[in-house]
Amino acid sequence: MYHRLVEKPVSVYDRTPADFRAELQRLAGEGYVPITVADLSIGRIDIPAGKHPVALTFDDGDPTTITLGPDGTPAPGTAVRILMDVAAANPGFPAVASMYVNAAPFGGGEGGTRALRWLHDNGFEVGNHTFGHINLRTAPAERARQDIVRGDGLIREALPGYAPSTLALPFGARPRDTQLAARGEGYNYTGVLLVGSNPTDSPYSADFEPSGIPRIRSQGADGTDAAFGSTTWLDKLAAQPQSRYTSDGNPATVSYPARTGTPSPQLDTPVVAYEPLP
Ligand SMILES: [Zn+2]
Repeated sequence: MYHRLVEKPVSVYDRTPADFRAELQRLAGEGYVPITVADLSIGRIDIPAGKHPVALTFDDGDPTTITLGPDGTPAPGTAVRILMDVAAANPGFPAVASMYVNAAPFGGGEGGTRALRWLHDNGFEVGNHTFGHINLRTAPAERARQDIVRGDGLIREALPGYAPSTLALPFGARPRDTQLAARGEGYNYTGVLLVGSNPTDSPYSADFEPSGIPRIRSQGADGTDAAFGSTTWLDKLAAQPQSRYTSDGNPATVSYPARTGTPSPQLDTPVVAYEPLP
């Protein structure tokens, strides 16, 4: 989970461009392949054998995520440009991410709309983060629904023919009726994202809850709640490779170690495969 890229972070939600680039390079080097949250939420994980899916998400439609330059492509220093640079240097690590926007995305106006269109045209997911970034837990249900619909409508209007399929909860606050964020009159989402603090279960796990998918905040090894940040989690996952989702290379089957409970570092146990439900 990313928000802003700034040279001098002022909150735990900020990262520097250099830290962001380094984290992407680490992900590429450790065999992660970016997929969208839309794909994750429905179990569409089409990546090569041995690779691990990762969903990169950006909240709040900040101009440091994407601003188009005079040539109509993402400007140097923006997150999308950095992601494209890392992708170009690392074959098999595509520039794919999910962008959660509110009113006036990426600075608003015509420039913001052009940025939204560029993202959509270039394989990025555009998701809803509500129109007014309201707290869906404290808002009355009808007001919450209206703000979700308004945010959804803003995206549909900017991207004719497209409908968002996932939502990131502002502040990670779940409505008391948890289904209200996932579906209602005027919207229907396959995935709803929380804020923090751990990796999601596999979408093929019985524990996977599409209406409350956890995220990991991008963070270095130190600082407030670093134990829940990306550096700590990537260290843990690297130390316990059997706990990561590792693709068998065939999106039509899901495989898992035949002997669970006795982790094998090499994952050399026989695997079982089954056809996932449609
Ligand atoms: Zn937000």
